[in-house]
Amino acid sequence: MTERATRRHPEPRLASSPAACYLCRGGRLRLRFPARGEGTPEGAAAYNCTSFGHRSHPPIWECRDCGMLFQWPMRSAQELLSAYQDVEDPLYVAEKENRYHTFRKVVEALGPARGRTLLDVGAYCGYFLDVAREAGFRPEGLELSRWAAGHARSLGFTVHGVPLAELAARGAQYDVVTLWDVVEHFADPRAELEAVFRLVRPGGHVYLSTIDASSLVARLLGGRWPWLMDMHLFYFGRATLATLLEDVGFRVTDARTYTHIISADYLLRKVGASFTPAAPVLEWVRRAVPSAWAIPFNLGDNMLMAAARPS
Ligand SMILES: [Zn+2]
Repeated sequence: MTERATRRHPEPRLASSPAACYLCRGGRLRLRFPARGEGTPEGAAAYNCTSFGHRSHPPIWECRDCGMLFQWPMRSAQELLSAYQDVEDPLYVAEKENRYHTFRKVVEALGPARGRTLLDVGAYCGYFLDVAREAGFRPEGLELSRWAAGHARSLGFTVHGVPLAELAARGAQYDVVTLWDVVEHFADPRAELEAVFRLVRPGGHVYLSTIDASSLVARLLGGRWPWLMDMHLFYFGRATLATLLEDVGFRVTDARTYTHIISADYLLRKVGASFTPAAPVLEWVRRAVPSAWAIPFNLGDNMLMAAARPS
């Protein structure tokens, strides 16, 4: 069967296990978390930034050699691209204040701005661009969702609506490239980070955040870790993300936990979606507490990694 035919007509029996680890190409793989939930949701809704599609995912495999965790079978890059272009997510706009709180904390990790140029990949509605501009950077965005890019442009930013490789091919370069909660959504993170490498000027820096599958919380919760979900295609840990960054040419300079600041209302709805038996009680709590309460949320299972492109 040709590769194209396999993609067009997924045959679970034929594609029952991946041939090799995505990261180290080793062949010692095991099914870590079997598929569960209602199956793969269709269309753009599954990829919303605030998606509540917890407890539903395709099979997730683990490499016994390097520890990489990834979905398999994988969706086609084309399918993902068109889904991302169609994403609309009004709840994200409702959480605007908390996103700003989170980003104002995160921007400090980038050091003094000194007028440096910055590309925020997956810029979404432009909130980080706004915070970066306020801090003294000269930021631009890359965002595939037409809806979100429209928001970001309305704040006065240049937002590229093209894939990373296309922007890199134009010869664009930045002092800093940021990817906040983006790398786990790529169909081919290695190819995307290779493009990121070309987009960082020699001596410049990349900063990424993602869920940390090597964290204590993730390991303790196992299959109940709430970030095992359809829209997360790759589950990095500190070691595997560092390996991939170094593979494409970066030198890792820092790794730390990443703190999200969210409203009580959003947190309770997330928890309700993750642990369904508790949902009725949480719904009652949700009505009782001020929804605007801002809570720093850090279970140690989100990480921020920094790396430099050698000059
Ligand atoms: Zn591996």
